[in-house]
Amino acid sequence: MTAVLNVLRDLHRIHQQLADIRGRLDRCPKLLNTAQAKVDAANNAVVAKKADIQQLQLAAKEQELVLEERAAKIRDRQARLKECGSNKEYQMLKEEIQKEEEANSELSDKILLAYEAIDQQQEQAGSLGNDLVATQGDYETTAAQVAEREASLKIDLERIKTDLQSAESQLPSDFVGEYRRITQAKGEDALGGVSDNCCGTCYKQITAQMMNDVLTAKLTICGSCGAILYPDD
Ligand SMILES: [Zn+2]
Repeated sequence: MTAVLNVLRDLHRIHQQLADIRGRLDRCPKLLNTAQAKVDAANNAVVAKKADIQQLQLAAKEQELVLEERAAKIRDRQARLKECGSNKEYQMLKEEIQKEEEANSELSDKILLAYEAIDQQQEQAGSLGNDLVATQGDYETTAAQVAEREASLKIDLERIKTDLQSAESQLPSDFVGEYRRITQAKGEDALGGVSDNCCGTCYKQITAQMMNDVLTAKLTICGSCGAILYPDD
């Protein structure tokens, strides 16, 4: 009688260990996914920053073209100044040249500021690149740790499965059918240790008759949660 109760207690412990190990194995790929998501985010930040820089560089180049075209116009007008026939024409050209020079001076300031902004963005890109390298390093570390953990958990899992088979082989034949059915459906909740007349799995009270059955090692199933009951000491 005690032997059966001990087997049930062992089985419950083993099923709890199995659930724990399976839960830990399930978390392994999640840890890897989290590390990979950080690498992806860091990589996206680098790509986005590079695209921003490229846009700024294109805009600066366009402004430089405008600057050069205008400088060419100024040179052209300066040449015409020398061949100018009338004073009025001379004044007009002079004014045009002045206007274009002012515009170009303003534009070169803008271009200078644009290149300063590009330098800043490139510094940020550098720091984002460092972040990316760091997250890649973290990923490698996590991957190595996860692989080690998985290998060790799988060894534990095999050992506990062997324990399970050995404990199951000691179950009396009249327990086997219900035990199989309930463990398949409920896993670690297939068994419940009774203490203070309460099922340890659902915490509902059981009757005195059931308690008596539990203590005399009769197959007793909790009316509330369907667990096979054993006395928890
Ligand atoms: Zn219960």
